[in-house]
Amino acid sequence: MIVIMRDGAAVKEISGVIRSVESAGGQAHVLNSGQRVVIGVNGPGIETTSKQLGALAGVREVVTSPPPFQLASRLFNPDDTVIKVGKVAIGGGTFTIIAGPCSIESEEQLMKTAEAVKTGGGDMLRGGAFKPRTSPYAFQGLGLKGLKLLAQAGQAFDIPVVTEVLDTRDVSWVSEYTDVIQIGARNMQNFSLLKEVGKTNKPILLKRGMLSTIEEWLNCAEYILNGGNTHVILCERGIRTFETYTRNTLDISAVPAAKELSHLPVIVDPSHATGKISLIGPTSLASVAAGANGLTVEVHCNPKEALSDKDQALTPAQFSDLSIKVRALYKFMSTQADNANDQP
Ligand code: PEP
Ligand code: MN
Repeated sequence: MIVIMRDGAAVKEISGVIRSVESAGGQAHVLNSGQRVVIGVNGPGIETTSKQLGALAGVREVVTSPPPFQLASRLFNPDDTVIKVGKVAIGGGTFTIIAGPCSIESEEQLMKTAEAVKTGGGDMLRGGAFKPRTSPYAFQGLGLKGLKLLAQAGQAFDIPVVTEVLDTRDVSWVSEYTDVIQIGARNMQNFSLLKEVGKTNKPILLKRGMLSTIEEWLNCAEYILNGGNTHVILCERGIRTFETYTRNTLDISAVPAAKELSHLPVIVDPSHATGKISLIGPTSLASVAAGANGLTVEVHCNPKEALSDKDQALTPAQFSDLSIKVRALYKFMSTQADNANDQP
């Protein structure tokens, strides 16, 4: 249920609603955008209080059947959410490029790749220290050693870092080394993990599960938002279909669909979506055209030697070429949008 307050509602009217919700055993999530105050309400049986809430001072409207992902929905927040990560913003009027190796392998590999990301136009550095591998015999990541290297590279190149967490027991200490926590496709519906990262105030990059619908994905974002963490970035990374030529099938329509349904920023991972270097450029450009707020792409200083995902890692030169092209397209599209807005 969503309670929409009247414009200019008084603080005591807002707290009156929160008190009523809490005394009925519910939870209230307040979104105050300056002009508009909206309160997301949930809890068992709370719907029965809708009439009472509607009668409270300062309440304009009570929406009794919002989508199940109410806090993630456009109904709750019609404006695009912009997530700040240090000096970098994701969402709104910027295009954000996250890049780096699939796995952190060594100091030399990470430092060289980080330099390539920074000089090649990347805004954030990614790298896995805990790797969800199909085979238990494949490289599993460097763990703590990798996290320390990632934090070191982030500091050396003054660039925020992103890394995946696989286990609820690791969330609090992993957060100390990273600026953004990634929840991978395989863990999208690991509800314990979602609840755990919902307790942190780190931005969460939530990848779409390879077998998940858009609605399931948004419900997973809701778990994090409901935990009190409002910084969620959605990432489309391809889904499983009957196609085998590509590693997954990039669901390009999921980008505008998720943005239509949700205020959260949406980025695309063309590396895991395609699994092929030759397809990363075209799908990245398609992502810009579809309205994505950014990309996360795998880059390695020496892809042939990569310990994971070597067929989908760009070289530094390929990466800087890609970032020039996607930024040019993004700029062109923004100019077109500005021109259209200027029409009488
Ligand atoms: C990754 O980003 O390295 C990764 C494992 O991605 P996904 O969870 O999308 O497969
Ligand atoms: Mn990978």
